[in-house]
Amino acid sequence: MEDADYFNHPFWKIIRQKRLRIDNFKCYYCGRPATEVHHLKYNPCGLDRIYNLRSICKECHKLWHEEFETLPGEHSEENFLKFLELKYSGLSFREIKIYFVNLYRKYYA
Ligand SMILES: [Zn+2]
Ligand SMILES: [Zn+2]
Repeated sequence: MEDADYFNHPFWKIIRQKRLRIDNFKCYYCGRPATEVHHLKYNPCGLDRIYNLRSICKECHKLWHEEFETLPGEHSEENFLKFLELKYSGLSFREIKIYFVNLYRKYYA
């Protein structure tokens, strides 16, 4: 199934709505109002499961895909929360990147 077909499919509309209700229409990561739904593991060929989805606000979703995903290491929720914490403590993207490079070295070197 093509992405565009999937995101227009009634199944996606139902399951995304269900996830938003579970999370009370609040961002799973920062608690602000959520209008989007994020896939923890994106499986382009299969149907989604509720536990693979998270309600997310526009800001966190943008940060996840445009910044966090470009960092080295595991793109887990735990690391995303750490990323947000560093971001909101005023660190620059470069400084955050150094933090994750070091973290990655510590665990995988
Ligand atoms: Zn958020
Ligand atoms: Zn996403």
